[in-house]
Amino acid sequence: HQSAIEIINPANNEFVRRYQTMSQAQLHQVIDSVNDAFNGWRTFSLKQRGQCFKKASALLTAQSTELANLMTQEMGKVHKEALGEIKKCAWVCEYYADKAESFLADEEIESDLSESWVSYQPLGVVLSVMPWNFPFWQVFRFAAPTLMAGNVALLKHARQVTGCALAIEAIFEQAGFPKNVFKSLLISSDEVESVIKHKAVRAVTLTGSTNAGSKVASTAGKYIKKTVLELGGSDPYIILSDADIQLAAEKSCQSRMINAGQSCIAAKRFIVLEDVYDEFLQAFKAQMQNKVMGDPNHPESDFGPQANLDLRDILHQQVTSSIKAGAKCVLGGEIPAKAGAWYPATILSEVQSGMPAYNEELFGPVASVIKAKNIEHAIEIANDSEFGLGGAIFTQDIALAKKLAKEALDTGTVAINDFVKSDPRLPFGGVKTSGYGRELASFGIKEFVNIKTIGVA
Ligand code: NDP
Repeated sequence: HQSAIEIINPANNEFVRRYQTMSQAQLHQVIDSVNDAFNGWRTFSLKQRGQCFKKASALLTAQSTELANLMTQEMGKVHKEALGEIKKCAWVCEYYADKAESFLADEEIESDLSESWVSYQPLGVVLSVMPWNFPFWQVFRFAAPTLMAGNVALLKHARQVTGCALAIEAIFEQAGFPKNVFKSLLISSDEVESVIKHKAVRAVTLTGSTNAGSKVASTAGKYIKKTVLELGGSDPYIILSDADIQLAAEKSCQSRMINAGQSCIAAKRFIVLEDVYDEFLQAFKAQMQNKVMGDPNHPESDFGPQANLDLRDILHQQVTSSIKAGAKCVLGGEIPAKAGAWYPATILSEVQSGMPAYNEELFGPVASVIKAKNIEHAIEIANDSEFGLGGAIFTQDIALAKKLAKEALDTGTVAINDFVKSDPRLPFGGVKTSGYGRELASFGIKEFVNIKTIGVA
């Protein structure tokens, strides 16, 4: 299985560097050493673990420029967004350093016994399989709660961001975590099964495509290992007749264009009531065409290239088949004539069921605008998706929006007059093929623990 991982800069298609993958023997040695580290790490008090995370947070802040450069080089994120991502990682480290003790405190429960309570104990080695789109955030939002709970971690990062994977491992080392509490595995995705199967590995989490999630969860199911999955999304943004159209257009554009459109919780389908459809489309187009595509290192660029050529080509294929099936291209839609994985801000209108722009996830800067006859129809369209990650409703009628958010939308998160974003203080995750389990907040730290019941007669 030993082969090389080549990093190509998506902004210009130039070769950056090469990494050697691990041999089977090296892989097994790493898993064993991480498992050995569990015995020590689990005896650390929450205060001691928190001190390690406070140090990690300070290191992230101190090294933010270099870490952001690495992301920009490996996957094309604009530098200013990359800096924001590192800042958020520092925050999630601080957050769990401060909060883990209260989240994991013993809970007394009244029963027939003289004393009975729940205690949250670590499981051991937890494997994470992570994607390239938020190379630091996806890892820290998993690692902070999981390690604070006393577990140890393996990271199988997306090949494309191998430099980021190694930089994250180095942060843990420099922050004074005991050796081998967190290790990156430089392996191919075919070797993930052998890691899941390993008896030391107790659980696995994957963020990525539904296809990869299904494969990893099948393997984990075979060996009875717990999984948490955070997969794709096609978040519906519903614009009602009484909405502040300017606000809806701004928030919609902001959400669609984050990370050059490559976010699971980006706004993807814009479901607009027919009486405000033209007005919204016009305001939205004005926002979208204002976004500057350019060199991700340049401070004036709002978005950079797509992460790689293959994914850019899949996106363009989805756009062209949707147009063939009757969608109207209102903006963009053409591959620029320059080296790199570039794709412009694009709007497809008159999108209908049966088109890729309606049924599939568009993982790039392409918005699907869909017309709805009335509120019921809008909800029906919103839920007519295999995904159920997030969604948003724009209206002045907050009472109605709250009711629809609670009872009607089949998603893990709903934002009202705003776009969906992750926040360490709020649980995050989806339903349907967007996955299961929750990350962040008190919910995230309880995913990878043994909820141990103890009773005294
Ligand atoms: P993948 O889901 O293929 O990659 C995510 C991670 O899973 C990577 O570490 C990858 O490793 C690994 N992986 C892939 N297949 C397997 C497998 N069979 N067994 C174990 N691990 C596996 O995402 P892609 O980069 O291919 O992106 C494809 C689509 O996925 C996007 O267009 C988007 O729709 C969705 N996606 C969603 C994300 C989200 O945030 N929810 C993030 C990224 C993608 P390796 O790099 O070695 O292939």
